[in-house]
Amino acid sequence: MDIRYLQEKLNALLYVQRDADDILELKRTFFIFSVSVIPPIFLLTFLTYLLEVPVLQLYGWLLLGYYTLSLSFFLIVKRYVEQFYYCHSIVIMLITVYIVVRQGGILYSGGILYSSLAIAVFAFVFNSVRLGITTSIIYILGIVTVSILQPWLTPAPEMLKGNINLIFTTINSAWISIYILMVIFYVFDRRAKEEKTKNDKLKEIDDIKTRLFTNITHEFRTPLTLILGAANPSDQDNSFTLPSEGKGGRLELIRNNANRLLKLVNQMMSLAKIESGTMQIKSVQMNIIPYLGYLVDSCKSLAEKKKVKLHFLKNAETEIMDFDPDKMEDIVLNILYNAIKFTHPGGDIYLTCDTKSINSQTRFLILRFRDTGIGIPENKWNLIFERFYQVEDKNVPVQEGSGIGLTLVKEYLKLMGGNIEVSSKVNEGTEFVLTIPITNNSNVFDGQFFHPTAFTVSEWSEEIYPTSTLSVGNASDQHHTILIVEDNVELAHYLRSVIAPHFITEVAINGQDGTEKALAIIPDLIISDVMMPVMDGYELCDILKNDYKTNHIPIILLTARADSESKITGFQKGADDYISKPFQSKELLVRIHKMIEQREKLKLKYSLSPLDLSHADHHFISLDDMFITEILQHLEKNYTDENFGIDDLCNAMNISRVQLHRKLIAITGLSASHFINKFRLEKAVKLLSTTRNTVSEIAFDVGFHDSNYFSRVFSKIFGVSPGDFRKQKQ
Ligand code: ADP
Repeated sequence: MDIRYLQEKLNALLYVQRDADDILELKRTFFIFSVSVIPPIFLLTFLTYLLEVPVLQLYGWLLLGYYTLSLSFFLIVKRYVEQFYYCHSIVIMLITVYIVVRQGGILYSGGILYSSLAIAVFAFVFNSVRLGITTSIIYILGIVTVSILQPWLTPAPEMLKGNINLIFTTINSAWISIYILMVIFYVFDRRAKEEKTKNDKLKEIDDIKTRLFTNITHEFRTPLTLILGAANPSDQDNSFTLPSEGKGGRLELIRNNANRLLKLVNQMMSLAKIESGTMQIKSVQMNIIPYLGYLVDSCKSLAEKKKVKLHFLKNAETEIMDFDPDKMEDIVLNILYNAIKFTHPGGDIYLTCDTKSINSQTRFLILRFRDTGIGIPENKWNLIFERFYQVEDKNVPVQEGSGIGLTLVKEYLKLMGGNIEVSSKVNEGTEFVLTIPITNNSNVFDGQFFHPTAFTVSEWSEEIYPTSTLSVGNASDQHHTILIVEDNVELAHYLRSVIAPHFITEVAINGQDGTEKALAIIPDLIISDVMMPVMDGYELCDILKNDYKTNHIPIILLTARADSESKITGFQKGADDYISKPFQSKELLVRIHKMIEQREKLKLKYSLSPLDLSHADHHFISLDDMFITEILQHLEKNYTDENFGIDDLCNAMNISRVQLHRKLIAITGLSASHFINKFRLEKAVKLLSTTRNTVSEIAFDVGFHDSNYFSRVFSKIFGVSPGDFRKQKQ
């Protein structure tokens, strides 16, 4: 039998409904300490027989009898442990004083007064100063009383025999002192534990606060950015080209986002209500099955947009029971909404509805929500129900959301007497099982249903990707391409409408899509959100900045996580700039222009300098330098071969034609063919000045098969023909 089993048995014996943990612990301690004195008292009573001390035999039996009775009585009145201890301590002290008087006073008591001291000290376990002081006063009064009575007392003859008094005084003072020391040790140990729990609690509150600020500010900023952008078109250069009204219009955008904010505020208020204990369940009695079907239906269009299938599987058509329709709506929609959010297109979500009977009176409604989504790591299962918690690890990138939904679900279920359990496998799916007691006590409801308002379907409206209907407007710079990486469709839409009049725009829906598009089209600048599903903005930065094909592309991270740590992480991953939401569209445009301008200046570093291998050696070697150096090495090896062209260079570098072209343009301003020609001509310049070979020989030596074409290109670049150039040099 292990200790835990005994502890549970004891808890069951002492527990009364609504007992707090600390009260239960107090009862347990009292019970254990009380029971633990019975064996020593029994042994001492046995000793009184051996040594023939009748007055102490009486004391032993009185105590043993009292303890048996009082502990049995305690099991009946266990609710009032503190009051019980008052009476308990008074009775023990009275018995002790009575025996001391019979023994003939303190000096002949064999140390039994220590037992009263133990009772007074134990009172401090109760954390009640009043109880501690009262028992101490009773104890002192006891000592004073027997001392005053001393002149009238005659010592009991057995206490005067030999060393009886000494033997009992020694034994009693020893074991009772050990007992008292144990009580003191227990009190200190418990204080230390309480202190630790308090500190842990403070730390937890601190964590909750941090999570609250990071998640909630993000949740507020995105809709606010959109609302401000849509409501204040003068902030943009003719940009947000949405119609002002109708579906997909500015007003709808404002309404949707205001609803999102309202939902968030409502959730937070519900949480506050739960915390203050004022949240109430307003049940009605009705058939829950069609209501569940109705809730599932209201998520259908959202699921369709996300291309996941919703299935509602029921074992019966009717289950009349008490439930609060508003709370049930919040519960079901929160879980379904999460399932849709965390399931990839093509996946499935099942809601199975069942009942379970424990006996003829106790029945439960069992709701199982199963999805084939990204799953939750096992060590996070409990955490997802905590306030403001969102799973955040390498395999599950940061998501939008507040981390309140499941906390509310759990709290509502607790109020209903039900519970929720989760099981999940990463990359396979998640299952939430809800158990709700079925009762039939509320008024029967026969009215019409309500309209779930919690979620709007706009969040996955697809129009923006990739076939946006946005007009490009009078593009002022149609040479540069900006890639927008943003999972929030409305924000992507908004960004595109701000940027499209000025640049060519492309949109990607998450970090992975963004990385693939960036590698394929080599844009001139990337604007990326940080928190995105599948792959977040940091990882996108990390990948693109470590690939020489894309490392030159400036990346602006756009995020609500404006704390300095997030910024530092962003910069460490190679981000070039950081803009926090809500942002001014003008500011964004100015930063994009400035960044592209800077890039143009950098190009001069390569385009103005002679193309030779020594160039990179005495510079700080960046990935761009390495890229150019590698090209130069290939050209150095092959420039005499007239057949060596762009395709061969691409093969040698292991990149596509588009990648080579865009990268070269980005860092040197020269197209691939210009770059190769420039290299060959520079070689020709060297040969013209250092050898006596003819122009056609030199043209051939540097890889031109047609000397006329060589002369034409040469003249175009240097302004003089090769022949004249040689004459000028001589
Ligand atoms: P949120 O508003 O962030 O969705 P919730 O409290 O509803 O807050 O969920 C907490 C976290 O639990 C989510 O951020 C997500 O990481 C995880 N989670 C919830 N449901 C699922 C699911 N069906 N699949 C995977 N992860 C989930």
